[in-house]
Amino acid sequence: MHTPEVLVAGETLVDLVPAGSGSLATVSGFAHRPGGAPANLASGLPAVGHSPPALWTRLGDDPFGDFLQSALADHGLDGEFVERGDAPTALAVVAPTEDDGPRFSFYERGTTTLAFDPERVPDPARFECVHVSGVPLAHPEGRRAMLALAERASDAGCLVSVDPNYRPELWRRPDDAGDALGRLCSHADLLCCSAADLAPFGLESLARDDPEAAASAFLDAGPGSVDAGPDTVFLTRGAGGATVASDATGADERVTHSLPAFDVDAVDATGAGDAFCAGVLAEFAPGLSAGRLRDVLAFASAAGALATTQRGGFGALPGEAAVRRLAETTNA
Ligand code: ADP
Repeated sequence: MHTPEVLVAGETLVDLVPAGSGSLATVSGFAHRPGGAPANLASGLPAVGHSPPALWTRLGDDPFGDFLQSALADHGLDGEFVERGDAPTALAVVAPTEDDGPRFSFYERGTTTLAFDPERVPDPARFECVHVSGVPLAHPEGRRAMLALAERASDAGCLVSVDPNYRPELWRRPDDAGDALGRLCSHADLLCCSAADLAPFGLESLARDDPEAAASAFLDAGPGSVDAGPDTVFLTRGAGGATVASDATGADERVTHSLPAFDVDAVDATGAGDAFCAGVLAEFAPGLSAGRLRDVLAFASAAGALATTQRGGFGALPGEAAVRRLAETTNA
């Protein structure tokens, strides 16, 4: 199968994972792991049978930057768009929760991680697909850079994929999020999101109560005040499964489909959404039939499920064959 050239753009950072459970104030120590949704996604693409993507990301001038550089290299991701800044690397401290997946506290201010330079936006013309993370939009320079990349990629005819990855604590002025993420989504063909990512668009509770209605509402209304926007929305719901709604299948009518989560022995949900998104990017193309779109949803859901069976989000996928085997059990 032809695999398109993909550019993934966004943050790589260090996840600090507490040793043991209980309050972060009293844990005995932390392990450091590579993290950041775009880095997780980029590491997942080869694991679902895709060629390694190009990754536009920024690492600090500190030992954590060295650590991430070598982790990226181990996954074939140390290409020309991996930049070293002149400030530290951002940290995300992970606090596991009982029911709602891990919670992250970001230590980003004063770091280089989101300070993408709008003058150094990669030329999207050589890529068929460009995936952009919403996290850098919380930083003034990162916002200008990512919006320029998404706009140019759309103008160049690339398939533009967006993960809004809305993290309220990163936004110094919360009202900015809806505007900036709305502008990013206006350039997208494809959205991979969770219910929480739809909060800036007023659709979070609907996404939890009725995901098909929320995905459809997003297709109808577009991202807030912006009337352009994606024609395919994948909405993930953790152990509750996943949904797709698409106006891009070539059918006369909108295709909407939901799938329960696969039954796996989950140990850590970190990066499940990124693995899911890797599955989508590996298999999705505009104009797929409704049946093939359902297969993409099953494949991506299997990738998300298997990512929960290993700890961490970076390099957390067991491989394409295992993903395919699990995905095929939907038709058994
Ligand atoms: P995010 O990491 O963005 O919050 P989710 O937690 O919604 O993403 O996970 C993405 C997808 O991975 C889900 O829609 C589901 O298909 C799969 N998944 C997540 N958690 C589990 C789980 N505990 N068991 C099985 N599949 C899961």
